[in-house]
Amino acid sequence: MQVSKLTMLSMIVAGVLITDGTLAVSQQDSTINLKDGFDVNARDTNVDPCIDFYHYACGTWLKQNPVPPDRSIYGRFSELTDRNHAILRDTLEKTSAPDPGRTANQQKIGDYYASCMDESTIEKKGTAALQPELARIDGLETKDALPTLMAHFSMVGTNAFFGLGVQQDAKDSTQEIAAIYQGGLGLPDRDFYSRDDGKSVEIRKQYVQHAERMFELFGDNPKDAAAHAQIAMRIETALAKSALDRVARRDPNKVYHKMTVEELQALSPAFNWRNFLGQIGLTGTPTLNVSEPEFVREVQALIVSTNLDDIKVYLRWRVISTQALFLPKNIDEEVFDFYGKVLAGQQEQQPRWKRCVNSTDNDLGEAVGQAFVARAFGGEKKERMLRMVNALEKALERDITDLPWMTKPTKEQALRKLHKITNKIGYPDNWRDYSTLQIVRGDALGNSLRSNEFEARRQLNKIGKPVDPAEWLYSPSTVNAYYYPPQNNINFMAGILQPPFYEQELDDPVNFGAIGVVIGHELTHGFDDQGRQYDAEGNLRDWWAPEDGKAFKERTDCEVQEYDDFTVAGGEHVNGKLTLGENTADNGGLRIAYAALMEALANESSEERKPIDGLTSEQRFFLGYGQIWCTNATAEALRLQVQTNPHSPSEFRVNGAVSNFEEFGKAFGCKAGQPMVRANACRVW
Ligand SMILES: [Zn+2]
Repeated sequence: MQVSKLTMLSMIVAGVLITDGTLAVSQQDSTINLKDGFDVNARDTNVDPCIDFYHYACGTWLKQNPVPPDRSIYGRFSELTDRNHAILRDTLEKTSAPDPGRTANQQKIGDYYASCMDESTIEKKGTAALQPELARIDGLETKDALPTLMAHFSMVGTNAFFGLGVQQDAKDSTQEIAAIYQGGLGLPDRDFYSRDDGKSVEIRKQYVQHAERMFELFGDNPKDAAAHAQIAMRIETALAKSALDRVARRDPNKVYHKMTVEELQALSPAFNWRNFLGQIGLTGTPTLNVSEPEFVREVQALIVSTNLDDIKVYLRWRVISTQALFLPKNIDEEVFDFYGKVLAGQQEQQPRWKRCVNSTDNDLGEAVGQAFVARAFGGEKKERMLRMVNALEKALERDITDLPWMTKPTKEQALRKLHKITNKIGYPDNWRDYSTLQIVRGDALGNSLRSNEFEARRQLNKIGKPVDPAEWLYSPSTVNAYYYPPQNNINFMAGILQPPFYEQELDDPVNFGAIGVVIGHELTHGFDDQGRQYDAEGNLRDWWAPEDGKAFKERTDCEVQEYDDFTVAGGEHVNGKLTLGENTADNGGLRIAYAALMEALANESSEERKPIDGLTSEQRFFLGYGQIWCTNATAEALRLQVQTNPHSPSEFRVNGAVSNFEEFGKAFGCKAGQPMVRANACRVW
């Protein structure tokens, strides 16, 4: 379910997986139950791997693991997230006892979690908890006071009209600058406001009804509530019309518009930006990146043309529709009914502890993460990971050197970039200092707002200081990995360095197929259609000879067409352009991980390479890859994914990549013309 929070990071982060934002299937205990990851019995051997490798690799798992009622997507990632959160829960329960001997961090995470779990206090406070925020809106007497109010909302995480962030200057990666970007919508994407198919029309109708009920829950009479819901929808629809679409926003040049405050002011004179920036502590003459100037221009036109009362209704809507976890049950359930049930097809709300673990991890990730790392991440893992990363980098180096379509000068630049990639594995060297964040027992909502403000302040404090490449964008327990173009680094959180991605006891082929491909995926992101536009220093600068750029585009066009053809239940197509970067990373990652494995196995005797469970090393490699993606999902969640997520659904991540790779067909003895041996195979890297 989508619990809206201010995301201060608006830059491109190329992660490896899909996240549905929800937690996991209920498991009664909080012990660490490390189930086997890789499992030959998870296969469905009635399926021919040459016809449908995904269902061959995952068929039995898929039958045995239907989507639980409290999730909309359930896969191997979710299983692992469950396990990681069980570890966190154990820590949080221990630290939630008000023991005076707790460390400062233990007090924060323990009291945060305890307050979140304390439903009776939350119930008792009722909507009064949000009254100070609503009173700020009620007190708005003129539009001139809007910048002050918006500055406050930007700090506490209310997503209204636009977002504020801090990012490295795309063209001077040594500088941290403020960024203004489009925002203010309650539906997942701008296209949700304009699509005219029956399902989309129905979702909009239900969204308005949801808004109506929410206004009523906050005290409006039914007639006012209905009118207010219409006003909120009208303003969001106007914002959506001016917003840039997801495919365009993947192009780093389309979201780079550096300007001075004067230029921003000239773009939208009706909104006093100097006042807004001054309120958040940005004085002097800062330059900003205005991601979508057209959107900012339209926001100001909208503010001019909308009467103050309607603006207040919209702001009120944005405030009451967030923070449901910390509000009374009837509000929490109403929000779930729309965002969980209607949008994602999730049948039940998750158990509260899972949502509170998640919330604590979101707000205090590096405090709660220290205990996680101590329990789940030994030093020996880091060493083997580093060896694999080095092997993968060597494989990509050979791949680039041998590429038939790239000229020598561009190859030299590409290799220079590859050699400058830095690796971060597991967790931060220096943990975040939370000492200025106050966590008060019994004040769940206040803790959340203060956490948002702490994070906003932490981001804004970066401006004018040297970039810190040691910083992590996700908490250590997160089951994910990412490549970060402005820093040219790859990052693997301790959370993903667990079965089935990484299994210390298992053979190299399986590990290279699983975590090895994840490493290859992140490395390849440095050279996908987005990543390739950044140089070795993380600057947005074209280092490609024109003919090589053209050859690259021809190859990625092949992938766009291939993935455009995939459809999910209901007939909705994957968006080949939206998912291009991820698909390129999957395909490249699979190839270079395979090459690295072959290199690693080259010195092994045939005795060492003998089949295990009747599967050759090559087959185990591909199965290791296929099995990390075993995933069940509701029809609604799949639809939402193809409409909004840059990652293709799991099935196509597997079958798309293996059917492009000739070594897969060889490993399983497939014949030309079979579905997993694509006649017009695509290859970029
Ligand atoms: Zn990725």
